[in-house]
Amino acid sequence: MAIIITDECINCGACEPECPNTAIYEGGIEWTWGGGTKLTEVDFGDGTIVSGSDAMDPISNEFYYIVSDKCTECEGFHEEPQCAAVCPVDCCVPDPDNVEDTETLLAKKAWLHAE
Ligand code: SF4
Repeated sequence: MAIIITDECINCGACEPECPNTAIYEGGIEWTWGGGTKLTEVDFGDGTIVSGSDAMDPISNEFYYIVSDKCTECEGFHEEPQCAAVCPVDCCVPDPDNVEDTETLLAKKAWLHAE
């Protein structure tokens, strides 16, 4: 499953540089599919195509947030999610609304990085 940052976040910023997929952004800051990945565009299959450089609305304006579609729980990179490993208040936790098995997470990593 993807990791989610709870409202216990103290906005220290320690997690952001640790994410191998650039899935973590500061609250209020726009995110992109292409940031930290090799995605030049994303085709949602319903006629919607988003450029990798398009600025997407922040998911949180108050706390650091994780784009679940870019989170692979660090599968293929590290033994454990690095955000959770560095967070001083342990507020990077598994997201029950985004449950994915290891195979799915590795496929997501390959898609993100054009492997
Ligand atoms: Fe928030 Fe934890 Fe990230 Fe610091 S490391 S910004 S407390 S989620």
